[in-house]
Amino acid sequence: MKHILLFGPPGAGKGTQAQLMVNKYKFMHLSTGDMLRDEIKRATEIGLKAKKIIDSGQLVPDEIVAEMVRLRIKNMKNSTGIIFDGFPRTVAQACKLDEIMTAEKQEIAMMIAIDIHDEEIIKRILERGKVSQRSDDQDVNTIKKRIDTYNKQTAILADYYKQQKKFKSIDGRGSIENIFEKICELIEE
Ligand code: ATP
Ligand code: MG
Repeated sequence: MKHILLFGPPGAGKGTQAQLMVNKYKFMHLSTGDMLRDEIKRATEIGLKAKKIIDSGQLVPDEIVAEMVRLRIKNMKNSTGIIFDGFPRTVAQACKLDEIMTAEKQEIAMMIAIDIHDEEIIKRILERGKVSQRSDDQDVNTIKKRIDTYNKQTAILADYYKQQKKFKSIDGRGSIENIFEKICELIEE
């Protein structure tokens, strides 16, 4: 099994690329953002709590997302691998993930970072907001706050995986197909 972390700022195109990877390699897609939006839709206790935090551009508490991820992995049925999208987002989450994977006798193969500039991201997210109905995609201030949160709490994870010699990055400009090709090369290397 090959477990891959897709990494990059909000709007980098993680979800889009993850979907292509699922189609091609039959990986299981694990997106904490999607899982949280599902909780919101079902108006669960977690969902009600998460909604406010997400709309303010901040991170949902580590324990909540880590527990969702742990359960999802524990109940995973024979998969060719997991593609992690939007998790881990803090050093605490990365440590927790190491614990979870060790308990399941699994290992992260690599982190693939999608490199992209802030101006491009804001443009893309606002475009997506027009069709996605995601409230956090429609307000420039929320988007800026998300980028800020990313820079302050998440970007540092590149170092965490560099230390483990698992970090790889690709240029996030270009077409969806073009970026996907680069990701496939890394996976099949
Ligand atoms: P992309 O556009 O690349 O899909 P994104 O950051 O716009 O990424 P999601 O990953 O769907 O979107 O996350 C949406 C929001 O959900 C985040 O801003 C955050 O509030 C919350 N969230 C998602 N994953 C986590 C996580 N691992 N830890 C804490 N909060 C999270
Ligand atoms: Mg996403």
